[in-house]
Amino acid sequence: MPELPEVETIAAGLRAGIVGREIKAARCRLPKLLRGTRPEALEALAGTRISSVRRRGKILIVEAPPRALLFHLKMTGQFSWARSGRPSDKHTHFVLSFAGAAEELRFRDVRKFGFLRCLPCGEVDTCDEVGRLGPEPLEITLTEFAARLGARKGRLKSVLLDQRVLAGVGNIYADETLHAAGLHPLTAANRLNAAERKQLWSALRRILKAAIAAGGSSIRDYRGVEGELGDFQTRHKVYGRAGVTCRRCGGTIRRIVVGGRATFYCPSCQRKKR
Ligand SMILES: [Zn+2]
Repeated sequence: MPELPEVETIAAGLRAGIVGREIKAARCRLPKLLRGTRPEALEALAGTRISSVRRRGKILIVEAPPRALLFHLKMTGQFSWARSGRPSDKHTHFVLSFAGAAEELRFRDVRKFGFLRCLPCGEVDTCDEVGRLGPEPLEITLTEFAARLGARKGRLKSVLLDQRVLAGVGNIYADETLHAAGLHPLTAANRLNAAERKQLWSALRRILKAAIAAGGSSIRDYRGVEGELGDFQTRHKVYGRAGVTCRRCGGTIRRIVVGGRATFYCPSCQRKKR
C-alpha cells in the first residue's frame, strides 16, 4: 500500500500536472469507489478550477473550490495520464478531464479497495477520513511524539501503524524506522526511555525524508503519476529481506507477524526491551 512517501510523490506529480486547470468532467464508473458521495456531486465539479493538491496521512486531497476530492489509494490505486477518448481498461474507475487538454487523468484500481469522496473544501479537515488522523510525522515535535508514545501500551510496530497516533506510516516505513532506531517491534511503546524516543523520532524523520527524495518504494503496483518507479526499495534494510544478512550487524533478518502484519527486523541489532 502506498504510504506517506509514495502519496507525497504522487501529490507532487499531480500538483505539477493539474493545479490551475479547469475541470471539464469528472466521471466515475464504479459506484462502490464513491464514499459518502452521490454521483451528482461529481457533476458539480465541471467548470471549477483545481487550486491545490496536498497529502494528509495516506490520503490525497485535490481541491477545486468550492469542493474537494479525497482519494485513498489503498492497495493498488494508481493515477496515470492518457489521451482523452482513448479506450481504457476495466480497472480504470474514475476519469478527470480538463478544459482544452488533450490528456485526461485516470484512476485505476485493480483490487478496488481504494475510495474517493467529494465534499465541500471546508469539511475536509474534519471529515471521518481526515479528522481522526494523528499528526504528520514530519511535523510533530519531539515533545509531542514522546508524549504520544508514552501514552501507548501497545507494541511499537502496532503503535507506529496506528493512524490516530501518527498519520501516514505503514508497514515498510515502520519496519525500516524501527531497524534504524535499533528498537524491537514488540517492545511496548511506553517502555522507551527519553533517549530511545528521540532515536525513534529522528529515525522516522530521516527514513521518510530519504524515501520522499527517492520517489518512494516501488514494490508491487506503486508507480508515480508519470509511470515512474520509486527507488527507495533498493535501500530497504529489513523490509522484505527475511533470511538475508543484516547490513548493519551481520545478523539474519527475521520475519514475524505483529497484529496481523508481516514484520521484518534484525534480532541482533533490535533487542526486545523488557
Ligand atoms: Zn542487525
